[in-house]
Amino acid sequence: MRLLVIEDDPDLNRQLATALTDAGYVVDRAFDGEEGHYLGETEPYDAVILDIGLPKADGISVLENWRRAGRAMPVLILTARDRWSDKVQGFDAGADDYVAKPFHLEEILARIRALLRRSTGHAQSELTCGPVSLDTRTGRVCVSGNPIKMTSHEYRLLAYLMHHTGRVVSRTELVEHLYDQDFDRDRRRPALDRAFPQNMIPSEKTHSAVGPWPKGKLFGILR
Ligand code: CA
Repeated sequence: MRLLVIEDDPDLNRQLATALTDAGYVVDRAFDGEEGHYLGETEPYDAVILDIGLPKADGISVLENWRRAGRAMPVLILTARDRWSDKVQGFDAGADDYVAKPFHLEEILARIRALLRRSTGHAQSELTCGPVSLDTRTGRVCVSGNPIKMTSHEYRLLAYLMHHTGRVVSRTELVEHLYDQDFDRDRRRPALDRAFPQNMIPSEKTHSAVGPWPKGKLFGILR
């Protein structure tokens, strides 16, 4: 799952990006409202963390513009403590959740998990598909109850597919959601094309599409 962090405080931005990356997400970063607005308008993020107080364009305006343009990704706003008006304005502008500063990174991670779960129609933290289970809280993956080890790429791919069980996931969508903006997608795309000779991957078949587990052709190429 690919996230965007828009926060002008460089230390906080880095801390958020590091925590989210460690938790298995792909993270793009922006440091002002203009850059953040552009990225959120042009890239397909699974969720966005948006600070309200930003240079060049404030977070509320950024969010309003996205929603006006039909961008529907889940947005978690960061508000200053005791600024209840930020929260009201944020929700009215289209925010899905908020966290007041200062915050614990664990709370951000939990709220992002919840936003991703809700936006993809899952009620529980543990996702299951056939014999495969993935606990989004711990990153633990089991096949038929047996824990297995995965690389970070493998985990990202599996997590994306398992968040979207029951619908078709295209190659383009995988490329857009598994790599950050700095990644050379054109270089990676032919490898994905070779991995999926048929045009689409039905994600409800996650466990068979990547078989034999866990050294499937797909995972081999993405590694
Ligand atoms: Ca700020």
